[in-house]
Amino acid sequence: MALLSGTIGFPRTGPKREMKKALELYWANPAAKGAKETLLATAAEVEAQAWRCQAEAGVDLVGLDGTLYDQVLDFSHYLGLLPKRFQHLSGLDRYFAAARGAPGAPAADMSKYFDTNYHYLVPELTPESGPTSPDWSLLLDRVARGQAVVGVEKAVPILLGPNTLVGLAKGDFARSEVVARLVPAYRQLLETLKGLGVPEIHEPILTRDDGATLEADFGACYASLAGAGVPINLVVYYDDVSEATYKWLVQLPVAAVSLDFKGVPGNDQGCHTARLIAKHGFPQARDKRLGAGLIDGRAIWADQGEAAAMLAALRARLGPDQRICLQTSTPLQHVPYDKRSEEGHLPAALLCRIAFAQQKAQELAGTVATLRTSPPGSIPALNLGLWTGAAPTPAELQFKPELFFRSEAYEGRRGRQPCFPPFPTTTIGSFPQTPAIRRARLQFKKGALSPEEYRERMAAEIGFAIGAQASKGAECPLVEALGLDVLVHGEPERSDMVEYFGLKLAGFHFTENGWVQSYGSRYVRPPIIAGDVSRLEPMTVHEYLIAQGLTTKPVKGMLTGPVTILQWSFVRTDVSRKAQALQIAAALRGEVEDLQAAGCRIIQVDEPALREGLPLKHERWAPYLDWAVNAFRLATAVARPDVQVVTHLCYSDFEDIMGAIDAMDADVLTIENSRSGNEMIAALAASGYRRDVGPGVFDVHTPVVPTVGFMLGKLRSYMETGILGGDATRIHVNPDCGLKTRKWEEVLPALRNMVLAAKTAREEY
Ligand code: GLN
Ligand code: ZN
Repeated sequence: MALLSGTIGFPRTGPKREMKKALELYWANPAAKGAKETLLATAAEVEAQAWRCQAEAGVDLVGLDGTLYDQVLDFSHYLGLLPKRFQHLSGLDRYFAAARGAPGAPAADMSKYFDTNYHYLVPELTPESGPTSPDWSLLLDRVARGQAVVGVEKAVPILLGPNTLVGLAKGDFARSEVVARLVPAYRQLLETLKGLGVPEIHEPILTRDDGATLEADFGACYASLAGAGVPINLVVYYDDVSEATYKWLVQLPVAAVSLDFKGVPGNDQGCHTARLIAKHGFPQARDKRLGAGLIDGRAIWADQGEAAAMLAALRARLGPDQRICLQTSTPLQHVPYDKRSEEGHLPAALLCRIAFAQQKAQELAGTVATLRTSPPGSIPALNLGLWTGAAPTPAELQFKPELFFRSEAYEGRRGRQPCFPPFPTTTIGSFPQTPAIRRARLQFKKGALSPEEYRERMAAEIGFAIGAQASKGAECPLVEALGLDVLVHGEPERSDMVEYFGLKLAGFHFTENGWVQSYGSRYVRPPIIAGDVSRLEPMTVHEYLIAQGLTTKPVKGMLTGPVTILQWSFVRTDVSRKAQALQIAAALRGEVEDLQAAGCRIIQVDEPALREGLPLKHERWAPYLDWAVNAFRLATAVARPDVQVVTHLCYSDFEDIMGAIDAMDADVLTIENSRSGNEMIAALAASGYRRDVGPGVFDVHTPVVPTVGFMLGKLRSYMETGILGGDATRIHVNPDCGLKTRKWEEVLPALRNMVLAAKTAREEY
């Protein structure tokens, strides 16, 4: 049959977050009798349910997705590539030690998976790395279970390709050599899979910048794998591939090549896969199948016939004999399970426009069924040569150029802003989200607390936070508290830095059960941007005023930036990401205006996701950075010259986007830094950076209370870099990030030590 439908991955969570519950139960007591069996049985049932759901939707080829924690970790584990520090353990103990750490063996690093919001466990390689006693039994067991559920013809094993596994690794090693060492192990696996259809090998690495440099590795690797005599579907996703890559990729000795026709949802720069095919064709060899990723694997919108039109166009271009498998553009792990869980929660008018994983499986099968039965030409085909996937920016989003500029340049306004003692002390915004806070929020949601009662509780939390930060003296005669210089209200009213704003902005919707795996057992529920965004009323002024009313020290206003709100939401695909970012920015601009009118002199706008939004290919960075920076400026440029705008980036590896960071035109830059060797501070110093900085002095991810000595050492080391000509009034002292996940028992002594370190440093400099 020339037309098929196939999935290349599905949510691994279970429809009701069964995997999360099973993992947490197991971790609570892994040694308990039957704990392991219960976990594996739940995982098997979750996987079986997902496969069944796809087969019942009518999908022809069901990718046998599934993992206990992370698919990259799975392959490091199968291949025996996990670092030495885990080798004294075996089986699941070793696997979970790599994921979560064990005594004396810290967990592997986690990193964002391509440009998604999923996090994977980074393989650690050395020059000698290679498979050590590869053991595919877990994968083979999954394949056997999958065949039992959906039948041998439909069941498709999924393999993470060796080039991607190595490409995602860190360490000092020669890529080609390690790949070459892994290939025999993959080949052996393929031989075991012989006769079991066309397994998928996923190689998303090809969509990255360095894709083009991988030709030789891919050539050697797939020539060798072809020797196993098993047809392979080579699957590439998260973006298009470069033109040069496309030309050799489609010639590799594989039975099918699968491509992503969608790219990043709402991406202004489009996805050029259709163009590449229009320009270069697809190998005429009759037997090579094209996997056409035409149904968006990352957006949550119903397809509305676009895939059918695209498929019709592809067939018109490639001829009716070309074998095509209609697929999702990426694995469906990035969207929630089934939209039926939102009935009664989301407005009906929105619900009918949405497709989650289960609905996408139906769309795949339905689209193929339509094309199989309708006569050629009856479905209007899109013009492939012109189609780029770019969405138009509505004309009304043209903002006047002056809105993007502060009324006075940095040098001029700096002197009018709040001035500080040397090494001014502050925090990044959030204080512990205590069980009491979470309970109050839940009660409020259930209606057990009235809005007034809830506000009252939050006001009390703000009062506590201000009291804790204040200092003895006129400000607070009775208590000897921390004595920080710039205070925060502590964000008790915010469950989450994006959700809080989304709930207050028009255009956002929230699901009840729309969970997506972030990593392991951590799931998030991204908001849905479904319409034009605007601010209905002040969002943070009430809390600011409570806090400022309790102290004479300046309290920082606290906002989440436009790019971060966009990045952590499901976006619209009918308008560009740029247009949506600017809309959010315009809404935040109103908030900045209201905060300063209320007396706020320092406003922090967090952009931890600015870097995450970078396109996979370097050549597409500049246009992205241009609108991302403009969105931040649109939000903040309304600040008067005497109001200090702070931004918190949450990371410190921005050497390659330093120009963009400076172009944000914030007055203060706070970054995570405590665990680094000050590379970024040194780079900033070397570049003659002229704005205030707040490099973190302690790690917020550990309960360990940092000592005065440690933090004093950090401050001295900042001075050694020569940053800001050693003007200590412009080197702010703060933790790496917000403290919401910590306990007050940890936070109070940590901040006390931080203030002591700053005081000691003041005497030294
Ligand atoms: N203001 C936020 C907080 O303190 C910043 C969080 C972040 O950078 N991710 O929690
Ligand atoms: Zn942070």
